This record gives sequence, structure tokens and C-alpha cells, in this order.
Amino acid sequence: MKPKSRVQLEGRLAGKGSLSKSGPDANTITLIMLSGGADSTAALVKLLSEGEEHVHAHHIYLKNQSARALPELQATYDIVDYCKRHYRPFDFTLSTIDVSFMRNIPPDIFHTNYIAAMMVITDSRIKKLTRCVIVEDEADTTYDNRKNAARKLFQTLVPEGRRPEYIYPVREMTKADILTYLPLDLLKITWSCRTPIVGKTGFMRCGECHTCEQVRDSLVARKMDQGWLSEEVAVGAHS
Ligand SMILES: [Zn+2]
Repeated sequence: MKPKSRVQLEGRLAGKGSLSKSGPDANTITLIMLSGGADSTAALVKLLSEGEEHVHAHHIYLKNQSARALPELQATYDIVDYCKRHYRPFDFTLSTIDVSFMRNIPPDIFHTNYIAAMMVITDSRIKKLTRCVIVEDEADTTYDNRKNAARKLFQTLVPEGRRPEYIYPVREMTKADILTYLPLDLLKITWSCRTPIVGKTGFMRCGECHTCEQVRDSLVARKMDQGWLSEEVAVGAHS
């Protein structure tokens, strides 16, 4: 079978997933930007299993020059489905940003903070905003300029009196902690690879990018199964 094009794979996901708006009974909402990766998934699980607040998860279908958007969207749909079945109900919405025409890939955090800011200024019920930083993120100063610029962008867009409280459910956890914390069947449906390879019916993790290395090293350190990292993930198969 010939590899499917990204357009064909995108068509298989069109209209899938369970979108909903925040319920009218929710007076206060905790917002989490769900990327489809392990860190934001662990943060979502913590919110759902350890708290009782009304949670609204939002995913940006972020199309850029890499092939990440589709496996991240597939992962997000599967994560939302899993978490609704295993934990408790929450709201999930999706937006699309297509910057695939740009010569280089702009930082994800700019998109994330822009959409989060738009959501906050249009819904006064959003009182808490979840930051999904882990120990390694806090220790890494490589992208401090980028992070500061993203913070200023958010603060410029959201007036001081409207800014939500930041919460950090996974700040004390390392990547290895995250991978151990998530149930294995949930961990396997997360997507962290930055440069996926298009396969016959879906995508494969490249095994070489920074996040692939980080996940593999953490699995090895905890003596956990890593065979699943090289399996192809069929798009449209689970949703
Ligand atoms: Zn990779």
C-alpha cells in the first residue's frame, strides 16, 4: 500500500472528536491547553483525578512545516476519549492555526498563549490557567527569551484585572515521573515526536528528535517497555 498523503489522512480525521462548549452551569473554569503530549496529558489527569473544578481542555490543530499536526490531533482525540471514560467529564474544544506557508516554524508557545489569551478575554468564567511545565522545562534556560516574549504577549492581550491564576500541576515532576505516572495505555496514545515520519496508514515517531530521545531515555531509566515507540500509529483508527 502506498503512503497516504497528509491531505488524505486529514480527511480521515475530519469531523471526529467530541467538541463541546463549557456548560452553562460552570461559574468557574480551569483552562488547560492540551497538546497531545505526555506533559499536558499528565496535568489533565491530575486536574481530573485530584480536583473537582470544571475543566476545559483546548487543543490547537497547529499546522506548520513539520508533520506533527495530525498525530497530535489523533493523540488529543484519543486522550480526551480515554480521560472522559476513566476519570470524569470535562469540556473539549479545538481551534486551527495554519502557518505551514511560513519559511520557518514559529514557536508553539506564541500560538498557545495567543489562543489562551483570546479564550480568557472572551469568557470571564476562566479563573485558572494550567501551566504544564515540568522539572526539565524549569531547568532549561535555552528558550527564556521566547518564554518571556510569550508571557508579555499574554499579558498585553489580557488586562491585569482579568488575568487568571496560574496553576502548575506537574511542576515537581521529571519526564521520567510523568511517564511513570500515566497509565501505560494512556501514555502510549500521547504524541511527543517533533518530526514524525508519514507511514502507510498514519505516522511513526522519528526516534531522533529531542523529545523522542527524552522519552526513550526516561523509559530506559525506569526500565519500562519502549517497543511501542517504533510502532506506526494509524490516523483515524481510534476516534
Ligand atoms: Zn521524534
